[in-house]
Amino acid sequence: MRQILEMKVMKYNFSAGPAMLPAPVLQKAQRELIDWQGLGISVMEISHRDPIYVQMTEEAEQDLRDLMAIPDNYSVLFMHGGGRGQFSAVAQNIAAPDATVDYLNSGIWSGYAIREAKKYVAQVNEVAQVAETPLGKAIPPVSEWNLSSNAAYLHYCPNETVDGIALHEIPDVAAPLVADMSSVILAEPLDVSKFGVIYAGAQKNIGPSGLALVIIRNDLLATQQERVCTVMNYKVQAAEKSMYNTPNTFAWYLAAEVFKWLKAEGGLAAMSELNHAKSSLLYECVDNSSFYRNTIAPANRSMMNIPFQLNDSNLDALFLQQAQAEGLLSLKGHRFVGGMRASMYNAMPLAGAQALVDFMTRFANEHS
Ligand SMILES: *Cc1c(COP(=O)(O)O)cnc(C)c1O
Repeated sequence: MRQILEMKVMKYNFSAGPAMLPAPVLQKAQRELIDWQGLGISVMEISHRDPIYVQMTEEAEQDLRDLMAIPDNYSVLFMHGGGRGQFSAVAQNIAAPDATVDYLNSGIWSGYAIREAKKYVAQVNEVAQVAETPLGKAIPPVSEWNLSSNAAYLHYCPNETVDGIALHEIPDVAAPLVADMSSVILAEPLDVSKFGVIYAGAQKNIGPSGLALVIIRNDLLATQQERVCTVMNYKVQAAEKSMYNTPNTFAWYLAAEVFKWLKAEGGLAAMSELNHAKSSLLYECVDNSSFYRNTIAPANRSMMNIPFQLNDSNLDALFLQQAQAEGLLSLKGHRFVGGMRASMYNAMPLAGAQALVDFMTRFANEHS
């Protein structure tokens, strides 16, 4: 136990996902693993229909509603299949087969979502793509998007986890907004009432992988399609309180603990402050050096996933090796982008960002 505690202080995990979880949550889960709520068994070994488990799920939903100020006319679903499961679930549930749907293509995850939607919906219209500008890669303003007049929804990914590109304004469009918030949910306060559907795979900022959170405006449940595979059917899962079949009970429990931790830490306003502070530290370090670079236009830079490159890529391997030796883990960039990427979700303390920046400054001084 002591050793694990000490390890948690020394290692900073910059993994994009599955990602770092808050140490107090993991320690509580460890304590409770073989005896949950005095039952003498673990939370994984109890029926999901047991009142004590159901109560936990109700508290989880209420805590999430409190954290995000989710309006009463929205349902909260805890579903299977992670983020990508929702790529098809959204297209099937919200659009008819002959519908038109709009997608912003702002990066790799948007591209995957578009490809999946094409299997289920006749017209998948890409409204805009990332463009090279003098300031770097940027998302064109909404006024330049090629919007359909009859779209069943507009899908976008506010934070592209791989590319490190973010859209910080909520698009003002007529169609219901569907947002893949896998890597940015709970990172800052959000006006949920602007959205039709918000979904997120859990393994970045919520809990273990496999679980997906869906927040859906109730009128969209009414339009959904009966043909949808039942475990992925929003209307059924809303009616069954996400227990049409056996949910991922342990992931749900851990998510519930993360929500409690977030509340105790001061909620999303506190997270926003922390996340802005961490990302500012790193961007300043990159911008103030001729050793590192980031190719995203400042207005579209991600607060959560920060790709950066060494101007001399021959030093990449040494950078990663020395970072790892100092306890700075998982900084290798995605294979599609190359270079480095630092993902800093809610669980990453400011000290982690500071340790990374200190290391980067030292490394640059030693090798310039
Ligand atoms: C990680 C991620 C996904 C995929 O999540 P899975 O749970 O692996 O399916 C989808 N969208 C975004 C934005 C992500 O970051």
